[in-house]
Amino acid sequence: MRAMRLAAAHRRLSLEPSLPTPQPGPHQVLLRVTACGVCRTDLHIVDGELPSPKLPLIPGHEIVGTVEAIGDGVRGLKPGERIGVPWLGFTCGECVYCRSGRENLCDRARFTGYTIDGGYADHAVADARYCFPLPPGIDDVSAAPLLCAGLIGYRALRLAGDAERLGLYGFGAAAHIVAQVARHRRQRVFAFTRDGDREGQEFARGLGAEWAGGSSEKPSEALDAALIFAPVGALVPAALAATAKGGTVVCAGIHMSDIPRFPYGLLWEERIVRSVANLTRQDGEEFLALAPTIPIRTVTQAYRLDQANEALADLRDGRLTGAAVLVP
Ligand SMILES: [Zn+2]
Ligand SMILES: [Zn+2]
Repeated sequence: MRAMRLAAAHRRLSLEPSLPTPQPGPHQVLLRVTACGVCRTDLHIVDGELPSPKLPLIPGHEIVGTVEAIGDGVRGLKPGERIGVPWLGFTCGECVYCRSGRENLCDRARFTGYTIDGGYADHAVADARYCFPLPPGIDDVSAAPLLCAGLIGYRALRLAGDAERLGLYGFGAAAHIVAQVARHRRQRVFAFTRDGDREGQEFARGLGAEWAGGSSEKPSEALDAALIFAPVGALVPAALAATAKGGTVVCAGIHMSDIPRFPYGLLWEERIVRSVANLTRQDGEEFLALAPTIPIRTVTQAYRLDQANEALADLRDGRLTGAAVLVP
């Protein structure tokens, strides 16, 4: 099979034209990959900001593919079916987190495109118990960003409670999906982009944001909750300062630069700062059932598989509108 592979952090991915195609083990399926989203987490792995990835590694955890072969013990899937593979690739089922409905925090969790090879390839194997059927009526490229940007964004939105005035910091792949869910739930959306990013602000308004501005600006009204998707720690005190009493600030990324010190007055009055880690299978099932009823429309920019480095560079430099997707 062909794959784009990371040999070590801080290196470019290399095109491997003829790796052996993996065979599905127990509970696994072999997929022909038809699209794989490029997520900011992939960038954090390539840039050495996340510890101990599998190496060499095939990144990619927003995989859309067609089942080609199934391993022992796989139930309910047949060759030819279209499924999606998310970030959560395995959980132990036994630890205190798994036993309390918090498998996203499993002590022995494994992650697609991080500790398991992912979808920057024309084939991939995945544990069928963590894959999702995908709603019909959405093409493969458009569906790919639902599998992380959509899922993690949805979990972040859920953990922010039923805020009327919702701030979204960093208007990329996740926020452009969350904005649609929030508008569907009749929440009011306030979008924050890099200062001066007029194009990003216009994009946000087009998706229903009633206010859009730079992240150093004060919104037109205080927020009841804010979701931070940009990996910038300085946004935490900025978001707290924009939030009303009792508001919640959710850090939705896996990595963030250090949060600068800030006066206690920003947290006072029962404001909450929390993070969101990974996803549960229930998040995925709920979100993928909801997505076609809205319906969510993703904005994507397609790249060939061998352009993965270019896609990552465009994401790093903020040159994307919406989500990058690799098409093998
Ligand atoms: Zn566990
Ligand atoms: Zn992701």
